[in-house]
Order: sequence, then structure tokens, then C-alpha cells
Amino acid sequence: MRRIDLKKAQAARLNTIRDINRQIVLNYVRDREPISRAEISRETALQRSTISTIVDALKSEGLIEEVGEGESTGGRRPTMLRLRMAGPIAIGVAIRPTRTVVATSNLAGRVIDQEEFPSDPDADQALRQIVASVLRFSERNKASIEAVGVTIPGLVDPATGHAIYVPYFKWRDLPIEQVIAAATGLPVTIDNDANSVALAELWFGRPEVTDARDFILILVGAGVGTGIIIDGQVYRGERGAAGEFGHMIVGAEAPVACSCGNYDCWEAFSSERAALARYRRLRAEVAQPDTLNFSMLIDRALNGEAAAKKALVETAHYLGIGISNLVVGFSPEVVVVGGEISRAWSLIESALTETIDRSVRRGLPTARIVPSTLGSNPSLVGALSLVLANKFGAAFAA
Ligand SMILES: [Zn+2]
Repeated sequence: MRRIDLKKAQAARLNTIRDINRQIVLNYVRDREPISRAEISRETALQRSTISTIVDALKSEGLIEEVGEGESTGGRRPTMLRLRMAGPIAIGVAIRPTRTVVATSNLAGRVIDQEEFPSDPDADQALRQIVASVLRFSERNKASIEAVGVTIPGLVDPATGHAIYVPYFKWRDLPIEQVIAAATGLPVTIDNDANSVALAELWFGRPEVTDARDFILILVGAGVGTGIIIDGQVYRGERGAAGEFGHMIVGAEAPVACSCGNYDCWEAFSSERAALARYRRLRAEVAQPDTLNFSMLIDRALNGEAAAKKALVETAHYLGIGISNLVVGFSPEVVVVGGEISRAWSLIESALTETIDRSVRRGLPTARIVPSTLGSNPSLVGALSLVLANKFGAAFAA
């Protein structure tokens, strides 16, 4: 069971053997549900009595539940276990450059309820709106919500809970975690959006991603973010500032300015905004900034419109240049591309991989480039994962 093995580094930080065993049992249920106590015992070599004690504890905490009987392998039919599906336990808040999404999910990460509103660049106003929305959800689900995860399109220090710098809104050193926690009484975790989505891929992605020890997540949106997983953990660097590859220089005179103001950053060539600018240029459209969004551009490309396809392919070409640099530098097993652009995978895949394939002629190992399976709003899944991964990962209070 590679998946559980991956969490060794986290498991090692736990206090007791009992906590480690608990984590192993919970993750077996998560990965292999429905599964019986006997099967867990066979595969983990943990004693039946140990497993029964742990299962009873996990049941009484509402993390797992029994779901009828399985096939008999000789004796009594075994009772099968699975994650407890019922009820929302997490609130995710995805602050994005244009719109903020707030949603609840169950333990398995399935979204139950969500609302969306325009992101207010004014920090006080934005936080007031978010707090009001979190309170609506937590009051509607009295007692079942355990914590809130918040993703931010900028630099975050998860240790202090501050957003250090959010270029879209010019927020600096904003104590987002404290403000939301104080107003709602709920524990709050905040992180950068790409880091959170990488965490979501690690826990809820496709098997080839969740099984990889090292992978890189590229989050394409209004900007381009990267989340780096090394040895099954998010690599953060000093004050959480690692992974700002959106600002690596890949050319000159990009179609749009980067969020940092420069015209030579990867983001300025490869973001949704860059693709939209190319499309408008190809169509010789006079500025119509608000009538066309990236989702519509993808729809047009998938419907065969030549200019839309060309704009996407050219954007993917630049995306591929940056990815090939990351592959050369990190040698990850997999690179995952997330965001709406993954919907157009059939159109962009060859443009994405051509640069990467060329750079591998030097004999360096290559990486598989795959689209994210987290859907069209990966930041929201990332925000929910900040809460859920804690439940499956390290944070077990004994
Ligand atoms: Zn930049």
C-alpha cells in the first residue's frame, strides 16, 4: 500500500504507535472501502483486537461507518466499513482573483452546498463577506462543521495565518486566518491556492498522482501558480514562498502584463488572461474585456473555432516551455495541469509536450504531463483539502 507508505514522514511526527496505527486503519478504509476488519488485519499485520479498538474509536468520532455485510470467506459474513458520508464537515473558501467560492463538503470531499460572489478588492469588505458566508453555512449545519480551509491567490505564510502579499488586490500582511477564526469560532487553515490544489491532488487526485512521491501541480487561472510535492509533502520553502515559478522569465513582450507588472514572466505568456489576449488579437477585436471569459473561449475552441484553438495552442506552447524547465530542474514523476484549461486537453496536449519532449533529448528522464481530475474549480477542492487532509494525515488528537 504505497499510498499509506507515502505518509511515513507525517506519521513519524505522531506521538504514539497507537496514533500511527489509527492513521493506517483510517487510510485503509479510505482507500479500499468497503473493507472488513479482517481484511485490514491481513494486509497490515495489525492484531484483530487492535483494529477493533481503533475502528470503535473512529466510529464513535463519526469518521467511519458500517455498511452491511460482505462475502463470507468461510465463517461468519464480515461487517464492511467505509468513510462516513453523511453530513458536511468542512467549509472551503476559495478566494480567486475575480470570484470567491464558499462551499461545504463531506469527509470524502464531495461538495454539498456552495455559494459564490465577486471578490472584493477591499480587504475589510472581502473578509466581512467571507465571514458572513461561513457563518451562514456553519449555522445551517450546526455542530457538524469542524474547520475552515481558505485558499488565496498570493503569498501565504501558513505558520502565522497571514496573507503576505496578494498581487490582484494589493493585500499585504493580512491576518486572514485570525479574522475568520475570531468571527466564526472555527479553526481556520489558510494556504496559497496552488499549494492547496497540490495537496488536493495528493489526496483526491487520480491514482498515478496520489501514488507519486514527487509531482508538480501547475494551476492555470488568471495567473499561473505551482505547487510542489516532494516525498509526499508540500514543499513550502522559507515563509511559504516556494513555487513562485509564475514569475520565471520565459520570453519578452508577453500578450498581457503579469500580476507583478512585468511582461516577461511565465504567467504573462501562459495564463487564461494571456490566452484571451491572443484570441482578441487574432480576431482583431476592439477591447471587449467583460463579454468573453476563458470558459467561453474553451467552448469556442472545442466547437472548432480556428482563432480560439490557435490562441489556446499558443498558450499551451508557452505553458510547455515553463513545464519543461521545471521538469529539468525537479525531475518529478508527474506534472499535473489544473484549471479550466484542462478541459481542452485534447487540443493542447501536443503543444504542451513538444517542448518537454525536445528537452529530453539530452537524456534526462521525462515526466508524464496529465490534466487534473479535480474539476473546473480546483481551488475550492484545495480549500476543502486543507481541512480534510488533516483528518487523514497527521492531526490526530489522541
Ligand atoms: Zn511576474
